[in-house]
Order: sequence, then structure tokens, then C-alpha cells
Amino acid sequence: MYDKYNIENYELIMKTSPTVGELIKKEFERQSNNVELIASENYCSDAVMAACGSCLVWKYAEGYPAPPVERYSGNKGRYYGGTEFVDQIEEYCCNVWRKVFNTDYHVNVQPHSGSQANFAAYKSVLEPGDTILSFDLDHGGHLTHGSAVNFSGKLYNLVFYDVDDNGFIDMDNVRELALQHHPKLILAGASAYSRILDFEKFGEIAKEVGAYFMVDMAHIAGLIAGGVHPSPFGIADIITTTTHKTLRGPRGGLIFAKKELAKKVDSAVFPYAQGGPLEHVIAAKAVCAEEALRPEFKDYAKKVVENCAALADEFLKLGYKIVTGGTDNHLILLDLSDEPFSGKQLQERCDANGITLNKNCVPNEKRSPMQASGVRIGTAAMTTRGYEAEDFRKVVRRIDAIIKELREEFKEA
Ligand SMILES: *Cc1c(COP(=O)(O)O)cnc(C)c1O
Repeated sequence: MYDKYNIENYELIMKTSPTVGELIKKEFERQSNNVELIASENYCSDAVMAACGSCLVWKYAEGYPAPPVERYSGNKGRYYGGTEFVDQIEEYCCNVWRKVFNTDYHVNVQPHSGSQANFAAYKSVLEPGDTILSFDLDHGGHLTHGSAVNFSGKLYNLVFYDVDDNGFIDMDNVRELALQHHPKLILAGASAYSRILDFEKFGEIAKEVGAYFMVDMAHIAGLIAGGVHPSPFGIADIITTTTHKTLRGPRGGLIFAKKELAKKVDSAVFPYAQGGPLEHVIAAKAVCAEEALRPEFKDYAKKVVENCAALADEFLKLGYKIVTGGTDNHLILLDLSDEPFSGKQLQERCDANGITLNKNCVPNEKRSPMQASGVRIGTAAMTTRGYEAEDFRKVVRRIDAIIKELREEFKEA
């Protein structure tokens, strides 16, 4: 689905910069030949690629589309001329995304990435020093959910909820901490969590303590759009996402918010966090949304989850441990706590065998985060490339052979 555009593209680049063209070609071959199991990656369509590489790439359009387009925020008007067509593209983009999630929430399609979206979302409801209750990076949260090395951990006061002994988010712990710390914002969302997020329950707790409820659905947005994960719309006050993971669009972010927060969200994105929006990426986001509206996308999302269940089942059959004992979504966390080698060592050995995945911490991690006792494995990208359940089972058997090899080597050492 992505081959033609790529090939024509790097040959063009080669004429001006053989170095860059050659490296893009090599990367294209790596992407085509490797088994891509990184849970946050995917492949986008030729149409999305073409929008990204279109003449919109050099268009300035600081601000928001002007009347007659009506934004909930009341923010209107651009700081540049010649925006009549990008205005229409941006507004169209907002409207298709509302359709994808069947919502009348306010939408801002300008964030350059998921992290930028979170930066602006926090800014729209919090002051520096306010308390956020979120999911720790080590347990499966994201860097922007309060990590000490990230702006989120430096600007805000963080409290983290935990997982129970089986690796599931402990909703009693969420409530307990919410009652104890009175956070201004409760955040649900993760990068390495394989189970359904209970948005209803999170929402109830947020209401009980008078906190804003924010969902970062970066990883699972495609599953929500495809109807195979419960939707946070109607429950959360603010929802952020990336468009390049299970949604398989261009690299970028989106913010959705209840209408009363529209003005704050818009001014937090521009002029607070960003300057000119990437209108070429906004066009690609609109194309991505159109694709997500098609019936084929529902089939895709369903298949991603079915394939992941098959992958988990094959690991379990071979006697492996998986955090939470299985999966409801597009990823699993393979638990290597009892193995003599680390997640990093398995990642490197898989790399050498043409299988791309990444190390990840597991609950009650005993190794350093640089080594980690788990690997994260996702099915979104290879499902795009046409993999069926049986293909994923075969990949598991290849990983099993690699693990056995590693065990032997560590025994000898
Ligand atoms: C990937 C991810 C992000 C950040 O996305 P970037 O585009 O890499 O900045 C934010 N939140 C979660 C939960 C993610 O998984």
C-alpha cells in the first residue's frame, strides 16, 4: 500500500543528494524486509505520503481558519494571507475527525506530535505546580505523563497510580490516591499496557474528586476508531492522540476537548506552544481520517486485536509469561524476569535476525530501565502488511528459537 510512492520519491532525492537518497532507500528496504513488531509503529498509505509531500509543505498559516468557518473557541483568523485553501483543508480535517470518533467535541489538528498535544492539553487546564494523577512510565505510561526528565515532571506535581499483582491498573489505588491528593487532572492512557482502559471508572473518580479527566489515546486511537476498544468520548474532558500509531496516518498529534475548553486548548497550541501549523501534515491527517472512516478500517482494527490474541496464545502455549496473562489490544508485554538475559539482549538478538521490537520494563522491575526485563510486541504494523494469525504464530516460534539460543549461551557463560 505504500511501495510506489516511496520508490519514486527516493529516486528523485537521489538526483540532488545521493547520500540522503541512498540512506532513505536503505531504510525503505529495512522497513520492507524486517518483521516490524514495534507497537507504536505502522505504515501509511500512498495517499497519506503524497499529502505529506505536497505543496502545502511551504505554506504559512499561523492562527486558525477565519470566518465563515466557525470554531467553538471563537479564535479566528490567520496571521498570513493566501490561506483560503489551507483554511478549508484544516476545517475539513477537524470535521472528518469528529466523524471518525462520532463526536461533537472541539478538535485542534495542529499539534506537531503527541508530546506537543499533551504539552498544550496540560497548559489549557493546569497551572505550574498543579497535581496530576497519572500512570508511571515504568509501568507503561508515557514520558509526557510526568517523567522526571520531561517537562511534565518538571512543571507539575506528579502522583502515580500502580498496577496490581497481575499487572492490571489498580482502580482502587487510583481512587485512593485521588481522594488523598486531590489532583487537578487525572490522566488515563499508556504506551505499554495491554488491557482495556476503564474510562467509565476513571471518569467517575475524576468527578468524585472534582478533577479534570484527560485521556491520552495515542496507542489505541485506531482501535477506538475501529470500534474494538471502548471510547472515551462523552466521558473525558480532554483527549489527546497521535495519528501515526494504530491510526496509521502521518506523524502528528490531535487534541479533542469539551466545547467549554475550546478557547483554552486553541490558545495553548497557538500561540503558546507552537508557531505555524504543518498544513501538509494536516492534509495528511485528513486523508488518514477518511481512511479510518472506511469499513476496511474496522476490519483492520478487528484483525489487529485478533492477531495479537493469537500471538499471545502462541507464547503462552510455549510456556512464556506475559504481563496480565494476555491482551485485549494490539500489544503484549513478554515477561523475561526469570530469564538469564535482559529485554535489551533479546531486542538486540531479534534485530540481528530481522525482527524489530523493543525492550520494556515490567511491573516490579528488577533490572535497570536500560536493560529491562520485558519486551513489547505489537501487531499493528504487520497486520497492515497483510499478516494473518498464523503468520504471527510463526514469528512467535522464531522468537522462541532465538530465546532458546540465548538461554544456551548464558548457560555456557
Ligand atoms: C507515542 C505516545 C505519545 C507521544 O507521541 P510523540 O508523537 O512521539 O510525541 C504520547 N502519549 C502516549 C501514550 C504515547 O504512546
